[in-house]
Amino acid sequence: MQRVRIRLENISKSYYSETAVTQALRKVNLSFSEGEFIAITGESGSGKSTLLNIIGGLDSFDDGEMFIDGEPTFQYDDNDWEEYRQRKIGYIFQDYSLIGHYTVLDNMLSALFIMGYERQEAEAIALGYLEQVGLREYVEHKANELSSGQKQRLSIARALAKNTGIIVADEPTGNLDSETGEQIIRLLKEISRNRLVIMVTHNYDQAESYVTRKIRIHDGEVISDVKSGRGEGATEADVAEENKVVVDRRQANTKGRGFAGQLKLASYFARRNVTTLPGRSILFTVFLFMVGVVSFLFIGELFMNKDDIFTKEYSQKGFYHMDDTRLVVKKTDGSAFTQADIDRIADVRNVTVVDSCDFANDINYYLIENRDYEYLYGNRRKGEEKTKVVSFLNEEHFMRSVDCINEEALAEGRLPEARNEIVLYSEDSFLIGQKLLCYFTANNIWDSGEYYQTELVITGLLREETEQVYFTKELCSMLSMHVDSGVYRLYYAYDFSKQDYELKPEVIPVVADDLSGNTVRISHRFENPVAGPVLFHFNDKDLEGNLSEESVEVEVNVLAEVNQSTCDFMEVSKEFYDTYYDKESYQASVYITSYAKTDRVIRDLADKGYEAISIYRTSVTDYVDALVYERLTLIAISAGVLIALFLAEILILKSLMKIRMKDYYVLKFIGMKMQALKKISYFELAICCAVAVVLTIVTMWILRFIGVSFICEMMWYYHLGAYVTFILYNFLLAAFTAAAFNHLLKGRLNA
Ligand code: ADP
Ligand code: MG
Repeated sequence: MQRVRIRLENISKSYYSETAVTQALRKVNLSFSEGEFIAITGESGSGKSTLLNIIGGLDSFDDGEMFIDGEPTFQYDDNDWEEYRQRKIGYIFQDYSLIGHYTVLDNMLSALFIMGYERQEAEAIALGYLEQVGLREYVEHKANELSSGQKQRLSIARALAKNTGIIVADEPTGNLDSETGEQIIRLLKEISRNRLVIMVTHNYDQAESYVTRKIRIHDGEVISDVKSGRGEGATEADVAEENKVVVDRRQANTKGRGFAGQLKLASYFARRNVTTLPGRSILFTVFLFMVGVVSFLFIGELFMNKDDIFTKEYSQKGFYHMDDTRLVVKKTDGSAFTQADIDRIADVRNVTVVDSCDFANDINYYLIENRDYEYLYGNRRKGEEKTKVVSFLNEEHFMRSVDCINEEALAEGRLPEARNEIVLYSEDSFLIGQKLLCYFTANNIWDSGEYYQTELVITGLLREETEQVYFTKELCSMLSMHVDSGVYRLYYAYDFSKQDYELKPEVIPVVADDLSGNTVRISHRFENPVAGPVLFHFNDKDLEGNLSEESVEVEVNVLAEVNQSTCDFMEVSKEFYDTYYDKESYQASVYITSYAKTDRVIRDLADKGYEAISIYRTSVTDYVDALVYERLTLIAISAGVLIALFLAEILILKSLMKIRMKDYYVLKFIGMKMQALKKISYFELAICCAVAVVLTIVTMWILRFIGVSFICEMMWYYHLGAYVTFILYNFLLAAFTAAAFNHLLKGRLNA
């Protein structure tokens, strides 16, 4: 007698439903040995499948004990049962338990990979068995495209391929024609020579001549158990010879899979699932993509709102021109800007424009009557003469020098060269050479409401439509002349009313071409100007703005007439201007792509030897309650949406994944360990998530390049940290979904 493999001792099993208790097995005592080929018969519902499932380790029993190779199983844990199913049992299912969306070959490989075979070997084994069951030419067919007979044969081939010591088969020939059925029974017979084969059959006649033993079950009880003489009759050698069956003699000697092996296995199934269920994968990816887009926007929103500067009030005291993309830059060594500096700064990442004439960037200009300014007429109180006062309508335009553009920006004409030349945008060529009356005000650096007036000539037209007009550096530097930049500059102060030199508010020298030598003309702001020669006193200022000891005295001829400008403007000759004023620029305006890049650009400039500040930051003061509130609301909404999205996704994806629950049963039954099984969903969701994340980022960049303004603005805040947050968020979500699903899976599979 060969060794006993399975022994059942008083095994009982009941199924409990809400309405009834069914006792499927009652005190069954049986033992099965190697070399036996057993047929179990009995009417439907008698408990045959239940018995087989218990033997196969697929189901638990309530009472009694099952011994495997002489060992009791009462202390078996999940892992032991997994080992048992994987190593010792080949199961042929009544319902085939195939993975329908896998190919025939993949169904075979699944079982072999689970056992630890490598691809090449597994494929050879699989093809051998498929050949035997007549499915060789169906390897690439999907399992659910097969007929039921073919499915049955695949299920058999899969069980045999595992080459286990025990094969259990639940009505393996139920769906086969008698010829194939008999062939399969012969095959099982041959295999049973050094194995144990237990088969449930409803067609005992067919099996009669092969089986060694017949067990009859009725109502959960064994009612007969007889050795079959005929089965012993046919020698195994005869059968093998007759059917030319190739029997697998290999030993199941593959080692179990370690952690790395489990990962490999899970990734194989995940990739299979993704490719064989394209509809489901696309659904997942689309869903994850939607989550990706929403989370991208809200994470962007969070990062945008991180900087609380936007909740503060902008004060125009320091810099009149409110522009959050402007930085003010000085050289660390305090020296004047050169063209090389401008080029170097222009090369810094995220810098768009450099204007070496910083102060002019806060000076408003007014070109067009009735749009930028209008005249108001009135009578003076003293005397009856009519006066003309300029009223400004528009404070949106600020000076920029030609530093900001080059020849390529022009559609026609040339860049301005002489002090009184400008370029602007227009489609009317005739404008070139035309003169414009132009006013300038600087609300923070000149006295408010005061202006300088001059006539400018258009020398060129810009290509791109813009309201910006570009002036010469000479004009820009002239109009910002009295601005105390704390650098060396000839400096003078003459108090006309006191007719004395004193350090009083400075006067802005503007060049008038009709003057020469030391002749000056002062503005009409000085009501009773003294005509004739006066002494002007020029001092050097040091870096701290203190006057130096040395000074220069110059005799100046003040004209009796006054100029049209209203402020402390004094018209001087070009010669005078060039002699006594330092026209170098020590401070530049730098414009960057977005406020979001402020810190980065300031850092980069510091590395190159420039000190920079954000005019926006230095000019914002008190908090604006409404804005703070709005901002906090946005942050709260964003955070809330992200959390809600998190929960919603876990619920929705989990239930979507549930649809394929059956596949997991199959994998479990053919011996896959829970540990490996659980990893499949992680891999699967990781694949979909990776695709969705990439899709989201690509979409956002496309939208940005198309120019969706709100996306553009947000994308400036997408630096590395934001991307990392976004990617982490999405992958964490996928991981939590997989974990939630696995939790459900574990509950179901162990039930
Ligand atoms: P057979 O395979 O001989 O047709 P089964 O072993 O499948 O019989 O079933 C034995 C009895 O147990 C039947 O009455 C069946 O209805 C019941 N049964 C089987 N499986 C379950 C289950 N999962 N839940 C409840 N009852 C079950
Ligand atoms: Mg059954």
